[in-house]
Amino acid sequence: MKRIYLDYAATTPTHPDVVKVMLPYFTKVFGNPSSIYSYGQEAKGAIDEARVKVANLIGAQEEEIVFTSGGTEADNFAIKGVAFANESKGNHIIASSIEHHAVIETCKFLERRGFSVTYLAVDEYGLVDPNDVKKAITDKTILISVMHANNEVGTIEPIAEISRIAQEAGIYFHTDAVQTTGHIPVDVNELGVDLLSISAHKLYGPKGVGALYIRKRTKLVPFMHGGEQERRRRASTENVPGIIGFGKAAELARQEIGEEAERLTCLRAQLAKGLLERIDHVRLNGHPIMRLPNNVNVSIDYVEGESMVLNLDLEGICVSTGSACSSSSLEPSHVLLAMSLSHEQAHGSLRFSLGKWTTEEDIERVLDVLPRIVAKLRAMSPLLKSQR
Ligand code: PLP
Repeated sequence: MKRIYLDYAATTPTHPDVVKVMLPYFTKVFGNPSSIYSYGQEAKGAIDEARVKVANLIGAQEEEIVFTSGGTEADNFAIKGVAFANESKGNHIIASSIEHHAVIETCKFLERRGFSVTYLAVDEYGLVDPNDVKKAITDKTILISVMHANNEVGTIEPIAEISRIAQEAGIYFHTDAVQTTGHIPVDVNELGVDLLSISAHKLYGPKGVGALYIRKRTKLVPFMHGGEQERRRRASTENVPGIIGFGKAAELARQEIGEEAERLTCLRAQLAKGLLERIDHVRLNGHPIMRLPNNVNVSIDYVEGESMVLNLDLEGICVSTGSACSSSSLEPSHVLLAMSLSHEQAHGSLRFSLGKWTTEEDIERVLDVLPRIVAKLRAMSPLLKSQR
């Protein structure tokens, strides 16, 4: 049975070209980039090249890129870094209520340390209203954090509009662009952000490496203390093979981005249309247009998301019920609840995220298999029986 992977938002396979460029840095060029002899300097030179490639992908300057262990660290670094460096100015942070746990949990941590956080509501499509951002600003606000696109429902937020508001008020603005970088155009100057988080494993790079873009003159304290790596902004010996792989992935993404987004948008339309036509009581979650090219999120009434995921897995199809981090918990998604879905609708949700190796045939197979699974599960469902 051919396995079909439709969970590219959870992680992507590392591109074979990426693996190829990484390999010598495990064995041949294994030096510590801080060492002044040739082994070390070769590794350092390669890191600098990778930094340029990552910077080019987002329209940044290379000195504004700090490599991290992933998206979670980049989010933590941005938020705690700004909060602790600007405490004397104020203690108020604004974030959307549909942020990834890496942002939400960091904000909650800061609340326990005396900061106050306003979590902005979103509309039924998961959109933040820039006017709400404006209204939430106080003279104590030091940071606004709104994600570029949501990892569960794919809604793309009006980042440029929000950044104008932040700029006018003289407040730092961070965006978590983990789901967008490499998939849709991301330019830090067009978006007008001061801080932007990226993760390599979401764009066909390796796991355990990411980056935080830090606009020049942004005041933040380091998240890790120790050595003087990354211009004293992130201590610890660099993950050299990971960074080299990240650089290659960024280079490939830059070459392929437009064409691939168009191809995925067609496949997304095929999947969404097919699901709505072949299964009744289905709701498409997220914004109909302002959404990631590869994301389809649906709520299917009278069935549990987990049961669908397990049944699809038996057919060799991998999808998720929400974000990978929360899919092992039975708590309904905070994103879907914030979009005013009921607990039942949130529990009956499925996220399909398509990618480089998804084909039309894969989508057809899902459209063939899923209606049968839903019919089988509904036949056993006490939820549906109580409606009859
Ligand atoms: N932010 C978003 C929007 C994500 O989707 C993820 C991963 O699921 C992260 C942050 C965390 O990234 P990482 O797995 O690299 O720590």
